[in-house]
Amino acid sequence: MELQFFVDPIRCIGCKACLQGCSECATHRGRSMIHLEYMDRGTSTQTVPMVCMHCENPTCAQVCPADAIKRTEDGVVQSSLKERCIGCANCVNACPFGVPRYYPEFDQMLKCDMCYDRTSVGLKPMCATVCPSDALFFGTREEFETRRSGRPVNEFRFGAQIVRTRVFMVLDEAHDRLDVQDVALADTPDPRFEPDTYDSVDPFSHVEPPSNGGPA
Ligand code: SF4
Ligand code: SF4
Repeated sequence: MELQFFVDPIRCIGCKACLQGCSECATHRGRSMIHLEYMDRGTSTQTVPMVCMHCENPTCAQVCPADAIKRTEDGVVQSSLKERCIGCANCVNACPFGVPRYYPEFDQMLKCDMCYDRTSVGLKPMCATVCPSDALFFGTREEFETRRSGRPVNEFRFGAQIVRTRVFMVLDEAHDRLDVQDVALADTPDPRFEPDTYDSVDPFSHVEPPSNGGPA
């Protein structure tokens, strides 16, 4: 039975246990490879954990000039290969979900690889192991459907681009796709999308800074 990863934003209580769990992984000790973002910081305290969505046709890998980002046969997009990554940060700028980070101390991009050392042998990723509200849920589709409400979707529209992912986002029953542009432009316009502020606003200012410390 295939194990799938579900992210349910409305269950997130913002406790950051997932970030802490991720940062305790032996492969990147002291750093979280996932982020906590606000859904709409101007009007709500609702947070959402952002893991790598593991796109079927990953933009990060497409724009990498060094072919440093590989996707496994089971659909997990790996962090950059140290011996190939040239630290250009193309992937950082291209990812529609804002996931990869460039780490100058390693001159390398690192990102969530869905705890491949664990999930490839049937264990939960660290974040889903510690999440107290199951906002991050790793299990079979049957387990999800018997325990949970909401519709898992893995199709996202960014303007004219449709992105399909291995990871599912849980929406209400009325939606079978997330239109990110409509979300971004709803109610309160986000200044990051105003053309005359492109050059003056840091597009990653809403992202949680990485934890202190580094790999052992
Ligand atoms: S552990 Fe779960 S509830 Fe806490 S911040 Fe992360 S996703 Fe949200
Ligand atoms: S979410 Fe971003 S980092 Fe993850 S596979 Fe897709 S493009 Fe790459």
